[in-house]
Amino acid sequence: MFTSPPAENADPMYRLLVEKIVDYAIYMLTPEGIVSNWNAGAQRAKGYVASEIVGRHYSTFYRPEDVAAGLPDINLSIAREHGRFEDEGWRLRKDGTALWAHVVIDAIHDDDGRLVGFAKITRDCTEQRRAQEAQREQEQRFRHLIQGVTDYAIYMLDGDGHVVNWNAGAERAKGYKADEIVGRHFSVFYRAADRAAGLPHAALETARSNGRFEAEGWRVRKDGSEFWTSVVIDAVRGEDGELIGFAKITRDITERRRQELKVLEAKELAEKYSQQMASLSRFLDSVISNIPASVLAQDCSGEVILLANQQAQRLFSGAQVDLAGKSVRDCLSPAVADYIERQVAGVGQDAELQAKESTVDTPLGTRTLRSRSVRGTRPEGEGDYILTITEDVTEELAAYAQIHHMAQHDGLTDLPNRAFFHHRLEAAIAGDAASRSITAILCLDLDNFKNINDALGHAYGDKLLLALAQRLREHLREQDTLARLGGDEFAVVLPGLRRLEEAKQAAQRLIDATGQPFLIDEHGLSVGLSVGIASTNSGSSAEELLRFGDMALYEAKRNGRNRYEVFRPELEEAARVRRQMETDLRRALHLGQIEMVYQPIMEKDGRRIAGYEALMRWNHPVHGQVLPLDFIPLAEETGLIHDLGARALNLACQEAITWNDGESVAVNLSPAQFKSPDLVATVALALSDSGLDPARLELEITESVLLDDSDGNIRTLRALKELGVAISLDDFGTGYSSLSYLRSFPFDKIKIDKSFVQDIGESREALAIIRAITGLSNSLLIHTTAEGVETHEQFLRLQAEGCSHFQGYLFGRPQSSDRRLRAMDDAA
Ligand code: C2E
Ligand code: CA
Ligand code: CA
Repeated sequence: MFTSPPAENADPMYRLLVEKIVDYAIYMLTPEGIVSNWNAGAQRAKGYVASEIVGRHYSTFYRPEDVAAGLPDINLSIAREHGRFEDEGWRLRKDGTALWAHVVIDAIHDDDGRLVGFAKITRDCTEQRRAQEAQREQEQRFRHLIQGVTDYAIYMLDGDGHVVNWNAGAERAKGYKADEIVGRHFSVFYRAADRAAGLPHAALETARSNGRFEAEGWRVRKDGSEFWTSVVIDAVRGEDGELIGFAKITRDITERRRQELKVLEAKELAEKYSQQMASLSRFLDSVISNIPASVLAQDCSGEVILLANQQAQRLFSGAQVDLAGKSVRDCLSPAVADYIERQVAGVGQDAELQAKESTVDTPLGTRTLRSRSVRGTRPEGEGDYILTITEDVTEELAAYAQIHHMAQHDGLTDLPNRAFFHHRLEAAIAGDAASRSITAILCLDLDNFKNINDALGHAYGDKLLLALAQRLREHLREQDTLARLGGDEFAVVLPGLRRLEEAKQAAQRLIDATGQPFLIDEHGLSVGLSVGIASTNSGSSAEELLRFGDMALYEAKRNGRNRYEVFRPELEEAARVRRQMETDLRRALHLGQIEMVYQPIMEKDGRRIAGYEALMRWNHPVHGQVLPLDFIPLAEETGLIHDLGARALNLACQEAITWNDGESVAVNLSPAQFKSPDLVATVALALSDSGLDPARLELEITESVLLDDSDGNIRTLRALKELGVAISLDDFGTGYSSLSYLRSFPFDKIKIDKSFVQDIGESREALAIIRAITGLSNSLLIHTTAEGVETHEQFLRLQAEGCSHFQGYLFGRPQSSDRRLRAMDDAA
């Protein structure tokens, strides 16, 4: 700047310039360092006016410590030696304040090379200096800060992604020390797979183009362990916009992430749980609403309804309205509210007491309700509640009563049945001791009811039984129990009798009443009634009385029906004998104790044998030969007659086939055998098994076969006849005998009962009957056999009356087939 030696007022322009420059302090020093002039800049910079400073040593501007260090002289000597001294340093203003000065001291020589002084230019750089220092300080502080941050890994990457620096946080987070990692590419922090996928590169690219990259992801520590991190990469650019590198801040948020995941999991769990709870709650709702009972929950005071299922709404309020939250008194009728209150008051009482049925006037009508109330505790201290479950048992009880009645009554007559009868009988017996009375029972049996049923149909039979029941009831006292034990079997309990006589009178009343004709479906009908009487005079238990009554009834029937019989101890013995016989008879069939004997039936001449009647004998091991009249009725009663009858047929056919002269064999059929649908087959089998010509077989039936279920029996007779066998009407003239029977079926033979035969000599009546029979038979071309012919006179009279065959002791007693054969041989 000073190219020529400074001279006072040398060039006025130049001087003006220098003096007016205010940004620079420009002044001259003598070679000794004395200020020789002073410009405006100097005055501005240092505060002195020219008059104050010119002539003083320039060391005035130095700080005392610098002066003490000899800096002013040293600086001058540098300028002297090197021509220039340049430095920056602290100087002092006039007011003592420091300024940072950029100082240039130029040595000025004259043309001869002599030092004439120094030109000094000082620039006040305090501001810049302050700014610089502040910046440095800030940088320092910042560096310390960064270095000290341990929660964040903060480091720089160069433009290619290599680590440039490394802070404590980075070391902590990633495990590398600065010297291990600086210079290496930041992709080492990525997982191998992420690296392969180009994630590090992509991150840098994003930061480069967008200025910032932000993400969360898995990173790898030096030891290989992984951590979840939040990453920010900022592109750092210079003032010119050129990329300097990247600032990378990484935060290990594994823990946070774990917490987040936990929270997430917990949330999911909670959601699931709440879903489950919701579905459980829905399920419970549906269970409660589907419970086939009324469910009502109330608060513990019982005043407010907490819950009511549909059934409860319907039963208690009569409508499908939500009762929850309402008061029992407000929303329910007084009758229902009373009932619920009573029920609630009973909480804690024993279950039986609580569940007692009550009749309540509900909106659905008068119902019988059975409720049970319990106190429950709600979770989470919401207070107790009272739960009442109510069943409407109206129908149940009605059905139960109905069933109970049905269990004790007969369906047809609605009379007490056997069980109820038994019960009543026991009660009556129990009452006897107190009233010193007796109880009697009447066992009733309609005579021939079976026939009526068969002949007129079951519907008719039922009507008859119903009418009979009514009629019997009318003739009994209020306290008497008339029961139907089954079929046509009735029984009566007569409690509180003074004498047995009263029972007999009652029995006779019933017999008489039954004897009056019944008019049913315009069909008049008379029936007989047999009655067995037993009383506590002879029996003590209900069972015994029933048993005795039955025996007496049996006796009444045996003695001719339509009468009563009182139990006597002998009847028990008779019954015992009968039972024993039954057992023996069963056994007899198996042991071959049954055999047939044969009685000859003579031709009209009385000399030639037309055939034989097969008669059954039971060779009892103890009682010897038992005659049919002593066991056939029992066999009929017990059903053994079917086996016995089949045995008779088989034996007769088998034995008849051994006879040489082709005589016929007549086998007796019991009416009871017609009850079996197998009868025709049994006969056919006997024939085929034996090989006997059907024409040689005669079957003897009695009139009662025609009386019973005539249509069915006549059909059976026809079927038998079709087998080729002959049918005889046995014992004709006894019983209901009617000559019209002879027209109902084409019989082959009529057997005149031996009672007429034996009376023929004395009784004109008998003769008249015989004559009528033979007359009609002959006109119908039916044979007639006179039975029981014992005398020659009888034979001759009967022969004269036109009988075609004869049977009786006169001609031969029944004998076994063997004996018969031997007799034949002897005769021959
Ligand atoms: P019924 O069919 O009238 O048989 C004739 C009965 O008269 C036989 O008695 C016979 O021995 C008896 N009798 C024969 N001639 C005379 C006589 O001159 N005077 C007298 N007083 N009696 C005579 P029985 O063998 O005791 O048979 C009695 C009844 O038993 C039979 O009467 C018949 O109804 C029945 N009966 C016999 N055998 C059988 C059989 O195999 N099956 C069935 N269902 N009933 C049979
Ligand atoms: Ca016979
Ligand atoms: Ca007979």
